[in-house]
Amino acid sequence: MYTAEFAYKKATSVAEAIQLLQQHPEAKLLAGGHSLIPAMKLRLAAPPALIDISKVAELRGVRREGDTLVVGAMTTYRELETSDLLKAHCPLIPQAVYHIGDPMVRAKGTIGGSLAHADPAADLPASMLALGAKMKIQGPSGARVVEADQFFTGMFSTALQEGEILTEIHLPIRPGARMAYAKFPHPASRSAVVGVAVVVDGTEVRAAVTGAGEHAMRLTKLEQALAGKPLTTENISAACQGLLAPDHLNHDLVASREYRAHLVDVMAKRALMQAAGL
Ligand SMILES: Cc1cc2nc3c(=O)[nH]c(=O)nc-3n(C[C@H](O)[C@H](O)[C@H](O)COP(=O)(O)OP(=O)(O)OC[C@H]3O[C@@H](n4cnc5c(N)ncnc54)[C@H](O)[C@@H]3O)c2cc1C
Repeated sequence: MYTAEFAYKKATSVAEAIQLLQQHPEAKLLAGGHSLIPAMKLRLAAPPALIDISKVAELRGVRREGDTLVVGAMTTYRELETSDLLKAHCPLIPQAVYHIGDPMVRAKGTIGGSLAHADPAADLPASMLALGAKMKIQGPSGARVVEADQFFTGMFSTALQEGEILTEIHLPIRPGARMAYAKFPHPASRSAVVGVAVVVDGTEVRAAVTGAGEHAMRLTKLEQALAGKPLTTENISAACQGLLAPDHLNHDLVASREYRAHLVDVMAKRALMQAAGL
């Protein structure tokens, strides 16, 4: 359980990190290290260099800009969980973070690391989709913004291109919106066998699932079934049936495809009941 040898570079700014990535194209960015270092210890990854961005001050913290909350990519789970701005305007994030790993993982792991890694069982991607978040990405040719719906492209795969860094996550403030996350945790790792995030904004319902497929995805069937309808127990129960066909879902020792499909219905119902206060 030792990593292969690697060079260690510490960046003090985003510009320096981008420059270092150009000088070391095979390098990996190091954020909280709670996915990357275990992978290196198992020799699933052996980058020749690590570029540590965990202490880049401009990448940390939560601030408000008009009707958007801007979250720095290196903001740790613990900082997200305790952020007054998030608790007041986007409680889905502290709630989802509460379910992540253990205190050590939450102390070191970062929102940017989680989203860039795009583990199919990671918790936060579902919340990003349900909230309609936008990802700010910076690279050698400048900055661009990608909608969450276009960010997760496959298993451990995102819209990030070589040499680019996820720098900020933009969360729209939705006054009066009700939101909730329901998760069935893996008994050992605590990651999501299935997790469903919902945001109810007036008569619009946005819902997304993680853990079920190759990457987090919107539950469009559920969104359409509830569009314009009051969130009653009857409407929620009727909508949360057969949300995803088992054929293309993940399957492993913990859950078969069919069981995962069942969990999607159950977690969606739990999240909606909680959001509706039922
Ligand atoms: C015991 C344990 C339990 C866990 N339980 C859960 C859980 O319940 N739920 C859950 O969601 N996760 C869980 N995790 C994973 C954890 O959340 C990781 O911290 C997270 O997935 C990665 O974040 P990080 O900051 O540690 O990133 P790192 O491990 O440092 O990096 C991960 C990958 O993302 C890249 N990267 C990092 N930051 C950026 C950036 N800003 N721009 C571009 N690329 C970047 C890195 O190069 C690397 O390839 C668990 C991990 C452990 C060890």
